Amino acid sequence: MYVNLKAASENFQGASRTIQPVTLVGGRAASCLDLDIVAERLPGQPLSYRLQDSATSRVLFQISWNDLEDRLKRAMLAYFYEDYARIKEHLVFRKVYGYATRPVSYLKNGALVQVECGTFPCMTCGIILPDHLITIDHHKPQQGGEALALLKVFRACGWTLKGPWGVLGRTYQEHAGQSWIDLATAIMDTSRWPGIQPGVSTVHDLDYEDRHTLNSEGILIHSVLVWSGDIARVTQNCMDSLLNLKPLCLSCNASKGKKILGEHTPDTDDDA
Ligand SMILES: [Zn+2]
Repeated sequence: MYVNLKAASENFQGASRTIQPVTLVGGRAASCLDLDIVAERLPGQPLSYRLQDSATSRVLFQISWNDLEDRLKRAMLAYFYEDYARIKEHLVFRKVYGYATRPVSYLKNGALVQVECGTFPCMTCGIILPDHLITIDHHKPQQGGEALALLKVFRACGWTLKGPWGVLGRTYQEHAGQSWIDLATAIMDTSRWPGIQPGVSTVHDLDYEDRHTLNSEGILIHSVLVWSGDIARVTQNCMDSLLNLKPLCLSCNASKGKKILGEHTPDTDDDA
């Protein structure tokens, strides 16, 4: 299990308790002095959480434990491998980043020969390489990019004030309530993709604050993850999710200050 919410649910004592709301504003952690979260288990009902205004008790967002778990599963599992480098095998990743069988030149017995290989383009310089020579890079670096990686996934789930810009993030958001199969089918729809353009960053400053600030649903889900002790694990899953990974050649990967194959850097970014 990727989170301990189940344990948090089973260990839940009493009829209700208050959870401290913790949000992200402009990509930075912030407390919510004017909000409360109440976890409650009414007789015969599943555990549920509600986010409410402290002064008026007006409910801003409410969710049952079952629905919360379902949303997290959809957010995490669809895009996550234990070994993130294996994302190269993922059909959706291959679609998004231009994987194809292409002729690759080799020298054999003094002659140039073309061998058909599964290949990716490097997303920085555009060189086509056989997939075993492509490295996997994180859009948001592991050192310092944790909140941004989390927000990238939360944004695609519709849990921020403003939604994603990138095709992948927008497609995900449109199908957030549907099955993984429906989502994958939509992403695989070639008409959505204008074509891979290595080296072209899609960073947008417009609405940066709102795209990096949690909405009511995001505050509730984030706070429950902090409370249950799951936030570090979920953040790592977001870091290694398909939304945060891209193929690079070793040279482009290393030129950004990396020491080891597959390590992470501060970098420019595609704000999917
Ligand atoms: Zn490159």
